[in-house]
Amino acid sequence: MLGGAVAATLVALWIGELTVRRQQHIDTGELAENYISRSDKINAEAITALVEVGSGNDAICSTTEVSRLRRIVLSSQYLKTASRVRDGHFYCSSTAGSIDPPVPVPEPDFSTENGSNFTFDTPALGVPGARAMVIEKGSASVSLNAHVYSEMVDSRLDYAVVAVQGTQRRLFMASGTNIPLEDVPLQNGESMEIGGRLFAVRCSTIYNSCMAAALREPPSVLASPVMLEFGIFGLLIGLSGGLAVSSMLGRSNSLGRQLRTALRSGKLRIVYQPIVRLSDRRRTGAEALLRWTDATGKSVSPDAFISVAEQDGFIGEITRFVINRVLAELGDDLRRRPDFQVTVNVAASDILDNSFLPFLQARLVEAGLAAASIGLEVTERTTANSREMGRGIARLREAGHKVYIDDFGTDYSSLSYLSRLRVDAIKINRTFMQALHDQSDKDTIAPQIVAMAEVLGLSMVIEGIEEEQQAAYFLTLAPKALGQGWLFSKPVEAARLFGV
Ligand code: C2E
Ligand code: MG
Ligand code: MG
Repeated sequence: MLGGAVAATLVALWIGELTVRRQQHIDTGELAENYISRSDKINAEAITALVEVGSGNDAICSTTEVSRLRRIVLSSQYLKTASRVRDGHFYCSSTAGSIDPPVPVPEPDFSTENGSNFTFDTPALGVPGARAMVIEKGSASVSLNAHVYSEMVDSRLDYAVVAVQGTQRRLFMASGTNIPLEDVPLQNGESMEIGGRLFAVRCSTIYNSCMAAALREPPSVLASPVMLEFGIFGLLIGLSGGLAVSSMLGRSNSLGRQLRTALRSGKLRIVYQPIVRLSDRRRTGAEALLRWTDATGKSVSPDAFISVAEQDGFIGEITRFVINRVLAELGDDLRRRPDFQVTVNVAASDILDNSFLPFLQARLVEAGLAAASIGLEVTERTTANSREMGRGIARLREAGHKVYIDDFGTDYSSLSYLSRLRVDAIKINRTFMQALHDQSDKDTIAPQIVAMAEVLGLSMVIEGIEEEQQAAYFLTLAPKALGQGWLFSKPVEAARLFGV
């Protein structure tokens, strides 16, 4: 009897495993296909722009030509810059204007048969700290965010992408695992086995590239709901075995799990960093920033734990926690100061979540506060994908909330989507401060960003101001701008924000 039960359980688990693996493989193929179609879109945009850049009638690098380059970037979704090239040097670009003396084009990593040269990861011209991927052909060049392709790959995949050229292949990018694709036949839609794992292969029909991908942790097959059903089915036929399954399904004590526990037991704290008007240093608001000290007493950087919460799908809970806490801690102060605004960082998923705005409105009504008391910050990257984001942002603004693009200037085509996406203000990323600290303000595109923001009627907050010299530079450039940084104040506890 016991033997029969164990056998039935094992058979059920085995059938379950086969079913789950098959389904996972189908899903993997879809994820790879998704990458290929999105990368095709970027490639098409880059190639069209290259042709356009190279086909101008204006004198090379004249003022009209530089404006034309800017228009090309503005009308694109993914391009960061467009530049003119002569004798292997950049002479002007949409971001830096005329470049004197001209800067050498970086050594390419890869050249195609039709003469396009690719440099995959090189310092971006005019954007301190940023990396770019440069494509150059003849007298034209365009650049993209260096990570634009890898960021489009689903984080659950182990993958490699190769560029195919005649009989040659070249590895374009890959996750950590060694997936040797250089010599094996690649067929779109097929599968191949490497090191005992099944990889789905998807190829672009336009741009000669292929991706091979497998889900990162195949053992997680045991945690699948389908698997659970098969297991239970087996157990019902027989008996016992529950312990074994539950231990198989037991999840590791991951960072996400620890964070969830901290969140639910109220162990996360909020600090507030004042935001001042640069012209008179008067405090106009503050940004709410989350702090987490883990069980071992170590403080974990929000950059790290926020992305875990995003990946694990509970960032919405975090955002709501922050809003509740801000209203609980600062409600009285904010009621007394209707002009003071606290900004909260939100994720793209919050903006797309239809229940988010009603939640926020209900909490504000309870707290007796106007919508203007809470502003929302979204990072540049999260705004990169969709029209839906634009609609979500519009709803928040109609309800009376100010919406800010956070960390502006670090990621995607910095200027282009701004003209399409209607927000109230941009927060200029602190990487721009570094350039000023290094005394090389001629290398920064800060003046172009400020000029563009003014044209578009956007307010500005300059982030990460640590020194008087940086504050002075931006005060001259943008007299109405607000500033945030250690020069004015580090983030402080609620009790110290307005206090003595
Ligand atoms: P952020 O929204 O751009 O926040 C500004 C970051 O710059 C904060 O880092 C702040 O402490 C830091 N900072 C401010 N002034 C200076 C300065 O003068 N010099 C330097 N070196 N740094 C300065 P923090 O608190 O580590 O937060 C990092 C990022 O984590 C935030 O960047 C934000 O994207 C995210 N984050 C923080 N709290 C939350 C939250 O409640 N929800 C969400 N979704 N994201 C959050
Ligand atoms: Mg922020
Ligand atoms: Mg920021």
